[in-house]
Amino acid sequence: MDFLRPRTWAEALALKAGRPEATPIQGGTDVMVEINLDKGRPAALLDLTPIPELREWSREGVEIRVGAGVTYSRLIAELGGVLPALAQASRTVGSPQIRNRGTVAGNLGAASPAGDSHPPLLASGAVVEAESVRGARLIPIGEFYTGVKRNALAPDELIRAVRVPAATGPQYFSKIGTRNAMVIAVCSFATVLEPGERRVGTGIGSAAPTPRRARDAEDFASGALDWDGRGPLGPGVARRFGELVAAAAAPIDDVRGRAAYRAHALAVMARRALGWAWDDFRGSAR
Ligand SMILES: Cc1cc2nc3c(=O)[nH]c(=O)nc-3n(C[C@H](O)[C@H](O)[C@H](O)COP(=O)(O)OP(=O)(O)OC[C@H]3O[C@@H](n4cnc5c(N)ncnc54)[C@H](O)[C@@H]3O)c2cc1C
Repeated sequence: MDFLRPRTWAEALALKAGRPEATPIQGGTDVMVEINLDKGRPAALLDLTPIPELREWSREGVEIRVGAGVTYSRLIAELGGVLPALAQASRTVGSPQIRNRGTVAGNLGAASPAGDSHPPLLASGAVVEAESVRGARLIPIGEFYTGVKRNALAPDELIRAVRVPAATGPQYFSKIGTRNAMVIAVCSFATVLEPGERRVGTGIGSAAPTPRRARDAEDFASGALDWDGRGPLGPGVARRFGELVAAAAAPIDDVRGRAAYRAHALAVMARRALGWAWDDFRGSAR
């Protein structure tokens, strides 16, 4: 196996163009598991860890641009205030050791339906910044997931960063696992409130071949919430929101849970997450 170690981003793009079959490695918390378990042996590894600019994040207008090398631990510590749902999701990833190595870009590269960063990225309307020697392009997150563990990257492209709109209202992420920590999601859910746009965003994880939004639930809640009066959330609104989130999923029975359980759990998580977010929004006016 060849080990390619570019020192600059330009060098990484050139190496990927010359060796499109090379597997990029950032934290290695997915890549090394596959290799150690002998699930496949890449012809080459393209190590992105030496590239300093990938480890940076910046604020650009309303967006936070999170470099592909920013770990979950740093995201939690440095960006929890501006990207609360993504930080909440990051706190549930693996263990401290995994969070010290793993990245959102790696989660996107793996594109597992169960990846924890996907629901908040979908709910917030993130954009993936992909680049090759041919140029850079911005891929809206809703177009990024193309199938089970498949994404929209071309063979010569690398993820440079993910751009996530900074929170303008409350955000919540919920995850159900077979235990409380170090667990792959049985299913997960994120919601964001954008009071300026009167918009509710959603993201569903581990309950369909790809992570996805619950668009009918978003439309329903965006129209049903009392944005001006900030009145209490009626039980009918929360219940209907939960039903529409569950209806947007396409879960299967597998080793982690049954489809019917996933649908039920999603409805409960969605109801609760909307309730928490709405209470925060109402409280912020006092
Ligand atoms: C013990 C353990 C517990 C875990 N728990 C969780 C969990 O709770 N939730 C969860 O979501 N995940 C979990 N994971 C999976 C893993 O930690 C995450 O998917 C993590 O986000 C991967 O990030 P990484 O930087 O380590 O990626 P890597 O392993 O380096 O790469 C992952 C994939 O992304 C590709 N890739 C990496 N960087 C780029 C780039 N810049 N451009 C293009 N492609 C790229 C790689 O080629 C590979 O296909 C766990 C893993 C382990 C070993």
